[in-house]
Order: sequence, then structure tokens, then C-alpha cells
Amino acid sequence: MVVTIDGPAGAGKSTVARELARRLGYRYLDTGAMYRAVAWRALREGVDLRDGEALAKLAERLSMTVEPDPDAPGLRVDGEDPGEALRGPEVADAASAVATVSGVRRVLVARQRALGDGGRLVAEGRDVGTVVFPESPAKFFLTAEPGVRAARRIREGKLRAETTRAMAARDRRDERRSDSPLKPAPDALVVDTSRMKPGEVVDLLASRVRERGGGGGA
Ligand code: C5P
Repeated sequence: MVVTIDGPAGAGKSTVARELARRLGYRYLDTGAMYRAVAWRALREGVDLRDGEALAKLAERLSMTVEPDPDAPGLRVDGEDPGEALRGPEVADAASAVATVSGVRRVLVARQRALGDGGRLVAEGRDVGTVVFPESPAKFFLTAEPGVRAARRIREGKLRAETTRAMAARDRRDERRSDSPLKPAPDALVVDTSRMKPGEVVDLLASRVRERGGGGGA
């Protein structure tokens, strides 16, 4: 089975997705890292972020090797480990621009589906329940109040200056784009994590996955 976790920035997806994968003995896929990788290379190569065709070509040309270990997830781009370079505010902002381009999404979604082929995967992103793995029997949409989301990002060090305002702008762009906007799948369980500890969220998700037949050999 593929478990999907979508939601806006700072809703707790990464922490929860990785811990859930560990508990279930599943692999872990951070689809956001793939959009960030295209954005990172576009910035480095000076590709115009408004040139959809050039961005789609770039996405197609990049080889991406995903390490799906929830204890040490990673992504190599043309053999290179971008490391923390993917995590900065400029790349986050560029990723959400790149993510509006249908040609880019087509390429990355195909790669994500190929990674889901073996099952036993927890995938996190913005459209993994609605578009990438719509047949998943265990879909989740995590939300949290904006103040809580910003505070979490600051604590994680991820906000290395992605201000609350920049984060809100990115969420708005993700929600309003025409291709694969951020929204819960009709059959997703929506969880407001504002006042929950990560362990409590994982407990809730794990019990739902088990109810749906995952966690064993699925
Ligand atoms: O999750 P993360 O913050 O790394 O995602 C960076 C950006 O990539 C998001 O703001 C969004 O625009 C895009 N994204 C997407 N679809 C996904 C995952 C990420 O459009 N499945």
C-alpha cells in the first residue's frame, strides 16, 4: 500500500511521514524535494522561472536518485547531493513557481509513481493523495494554524528566513494553481495538528493505516 500525506508548509508532514514509515517498516518519499531539486538547478543554471518549456526540459534532463530510508532520506541530482542547499528560502520560493508548470509536474509525477510501484511507501507532498496515488486507501491531509506552522518551521531551522509572509504566499500559490492545487482528496482524513504532539499524530495515522489493511504485508 502507498500512504499519502498532503498539506501546507509546516503542518508537520515530514516529521510525521518519516516516523510513520519507520513504524510500519515502509519506505519514505519526500516529493517536495524533487520540486526543490528542479528549482535549485534552475537557479544555478540561470533558467528563467517563467519559462515553462525550459523548466520542463530541465526536469526531464535531470536524473534523480531517491534514497527512501526514513532514517536517512536523500536525493541525488545527476549524482550530486545538494544537501542543505535544497532547504533555503530562495529554493522554497522557486520550487513553488516551478511547481505551477504542468510539464514539470508530468515528469515528476511519473517518477513518483514508479517509486510507488513496490508498495509499502509513505509519500508526502501537496498532490500525492489527489493526483499521484489517487487509488491509495490511506490518505491524510495535515493542517495547522498559520502561527503554529511558522513557529514549527523556525524551531526546525527550516525558516532560515522563510518569513511567515513568504510561507503564506507559497501556500496561496500552491492552493490557487490550476494544475494539481493543494487540497484534500475527497476521501482523505483531515487532521488539524495545531495542538497535537507528533507522536499523537503518528498514532492516529498508524491506526487508520492498520484498519485499512496496511502495516502487515501490504
Ligand atoms: O514540501 P516542500 O516545502 O519541500 O515543497 C516545496 C514546494 O514544492 C511546495 O511549496 C510546492 O509548490 C511544491 N510541491 C508540489 N507538489 C508536491 C510537493 C511539493 O507542488 N507533491
